[in-house]
Amino acid sequence: MTNNPEIEAKNIKDAVSGRQFPSDILSLTFDELTDLLTSLGEPKYRAGQIFPQLHRGITPDKMTNISGSTAEKLKSAVLCHFPSVEKKLVSAVDGTIKYLLGLADGNCIETVLMKYKHGNTVCVSSQVGCRMGCAFCASTIGGKIRDLTAGEILGQVITAAADSGERVDNIVMMGIGEPLDNYDNVVRFLRLVNDPHGICIGYRHISLSTCGHVDGIRRLAAEGFPITLSLSLHAHDDETRSRIMPVNRRWGINEVLAACRDYWEKNGRRISFEYTLINGQNCTRHDAVLLAQKLNSALRRNGDSFPIHVNLIPVNAVKETGLMPPSGDDIEDFRRELERRGIRATVRRRLGPDINASCGQLRRRHTVEETKKAD
Ligand code: SAH
Repeated sequence: MTNNPEIEAKNIKDAVSGRQFPSDILSLTFDELTDLLTSLGEPKYRAGQIFPQLHRGITPDKMTNISGSTAEKLKSAVLCHFPSVEKKLVSAVDGTIKYLLGLADGNCIETVLMKYKHGNTVCVSSQVGCRMGCAFCASTIGGKIRDLTAGEILGQVITAAADSGERVDNIVMMGIGEPLDNYDNVVRFLRLVNDPHGICIGYRHISLSTCGHVDGIRRLAAEGFPITLSLSLHAHDDETRSRIMPVNRRWGINEVLAACRDYWEKNGRRISFEYTLINGQNCTRHDAVLLAQKLNSALRRNGDSFPIHVNLIPVNAVKETGLMPPSGDDIEDFRRELERRGIRATVRRRLGPDINASCGQLRRRHTVEETKKAD
């Protein structure tokens, strides 16, 4: 696997205007594409012909409404690469599709398309690998290789839709990587995917999951996008949380819950909490009582109605971590204890149980296989 620095060196400079553009075509906003085309001697309206097609997965040389020379000019000015399907696993149980996608520099990421009654959801990755170091997570085992560009995040939605022929109704940023550790590219992606000239997914149909990057949560709140925030909490006390999530040593539980509270006050969007249940670490009945106390005292001030919803995720056994989920009865006891204390809690249904659909496992296996081949 190579690591091409040109992809991360995000910008190209237009010789005429001196303007900086991202170097991959899918990262360009509609206005940037317009400016780029005009700097290449093309009329402005060309952007209206090209942008919507790009966002449907059509490369410039396959576009029937532009000339070959326009396509050539574009290809020589910017990188025109769509993530390629390297591996595709379809669940026989529920139709979930898991993709291993290849990037222009040979790195791989995972993207999942899930089919729910209320529509199709695509789960996208935001980085190649992750540097957050959570103890239970397969994505972080080899560390972070690099950030994804906005176009590479968008490209996952485009490729999943084009390959499956399915409509995309919702997006969750819950794949490989910590989205708020790649802030600018993620925010650019949010704007691109919401653009009426392109896929146009409403912000209310987008969720972003974070391990608790407080600076990022606060910046995002200030942007004012009405997207849903999911906080990966996984423990009610700093000692346990710091042990399983090193990010907690930088921003502790009280600080992160205060940022969630402020996010809700600023944009009125519900926040959901993810809580991975790890046997022997964070899921006794007493843990549930303390979790409820923590959430109620930190988030509900003066008895107000801060909506608290906890998603309970029995940990997916990852070979390298040796962590196991609790029994079904213990999970149900935990859930009931939260509900008894005024906290809505649901146990996350496992989608694609037969295809290893949870975060990072397919890429991890692929990397291990590639390394073995090279040895
Ligand atoms: N970095 C972001 C988003 C990626 S992980 C975050 O931390 O939220 C998406 C969710 O899957 C997180 O809640 C994460 O904690 C959880 N997760 C990761 N590995 C898991 C595993 N092996 N079993 C259960 N949940 C896991």
